Amino acid sequence: MPTPSVNAAEAAALALDQADPLRAFREQFHIPRTPDGSAEVVYLCGNSLGLMPRATRDAVMQELDDWARLGVEGHFHARHPWFPAHEFCRETAARLVGARPHEVVMMNSLTVNLHLMMATFYRPTPDRYRIVIEDAAFPSDSYAVWSQAHWHGLDPSDAVVRLKPRHGEHALRTDDILETLERHGETIALVMLSGVNYLTGQVFDFAKITEAGHRLGAHVGWDLAHAAGNIPLSLHDWNADFACWCSYKYLNSGAGAVAGCFIHERHTRNTDLPRFAGWWGNDPKTRFKMGPEFVPIPTADAWSLSNPPVLALSPVRVSLGIFDLATMPALRTKSLALHAYLRTQVESLRSPAIDLITPREDSAHGSQLSIAVKDRPRDLFNALTQDHVMCDFREPNVVRIAPVPLYNTFHDCWRFTEILRKHLMP
Ligand SMILES: *Cc1c(COP(=O)(O)O)cnc(C)c1O
Repeated sequence: MPTPSVNAAEAAALALDQADPLRAFREQFHIPRTPDGSAEVVYLCGNSLGLMPRATRDAVMQELDDWARLGVEGHFHARHPWFPAHEFCRETAARLVGARPHEVVMMNSLTVNLHLMMATFYRPTPDRYRIVIEDAAFPSDSYAVWSQAHWHGLDPSDAVVRLKPRHGEHALRTDDILETLERHGETIALVMLSGVNYLTGQVFDFAKITEAGHRLGAHVGWDLAHAAGNIPLSLHDWNADFACWCSYKYLNSGAGAVAGCFIHERHTRNTDLPRFAGWWGNDPKTRFKMGPEFVPIPTADAWSLSNPPVLALSPVRVSLGIFDLATMPALRTKSLALHAYLRTQVESLRSPAIDLITPREDSAHGSQLSIAVKDRPRDLFNALTQDHVMCDFREPNVVRIAPVPLYNTFHDCWRFTEILRKHLMP
């Protein structure tokens, strides 16, 4: 039998959901159910794979129907014509990341875009050749910068500088980051950090770090895989040189979804920049003249190579439309409330078996709460999974919990905490 105090806590969570101005958005998503179909799972994994919007199926089917009906004419006569398919995401994507519309383009996948950006913004010389990343960078980012240094004939162990937290700490201190930048000074060619660290959930100080990198003459790029759709962003005003993000985590556009890319307009104006080019980066007015000479568009589109994958882009279009309706400021308000509620609930367990490693200050975290588990972390994760919590585990011992404001509820956080309680205090 649940105790009366549990009932009161559950009622309090349900009351918070009743008062949530964004609560109707949950109905726009498919929420996975337990294998016997009797209940919704506790889905707290939107930082890894966002849930499917109900509108996505029709959007993809529409492309297939248009293809069946129109063949090549779909380029101009599909419901959303294919020739400008990426245009339908431009304004919404720009609003999401705080950019001007001509500074963004949806294309490729995240790691591919990181390489395309480094082809332009990582041009090492004998004196200026270092890349600064987090020591706890996502592996793909580590491989990308390692391979760039190697490809340029450099020794990656010298060229790649990895920012480490202080002994016994999990987050990086801004002052320590700035101090490392100063120390390596004008040998730094590129600073490329994640906006939100995938493991700890830490949000970095975009403006300060970008400014510090620029003061040294370096380029500064951001990997926003865990930031886009999670926290408000102002890429243009922060003066970032470039940024890349994927669309399948907080952006709910499906596994492997088409990614986003930002290039600041002070660079897009310079059509002489070195880059890897393809026909979709050419001025649309002369694209079909089929000449051999590349005429780059003075926008972020100049970096796009191929004609857009329309089946993959339609879920992105749908998802960005939902963000546009909900708006980032409202989502952030709810996200902070969900995160604070979850943290308070988990802390109230007073368990010595876990540590919360996500920074506490509002400005330094997004949705995600990272729980370091001291003993047999896999066993705890498996037990949560058995009880229909969908979250994830990252080596060596971190369970990541992400209540996302579009479709998660305070009641989800309450259910999670009760299941965690059961396994921490058997
Ligand atoms: C999720 C994630 C990736 C994944 O890269 P893909 O190219 O989309 O497979 C890369 N970097 C970071 C920081 C991530 O969080």
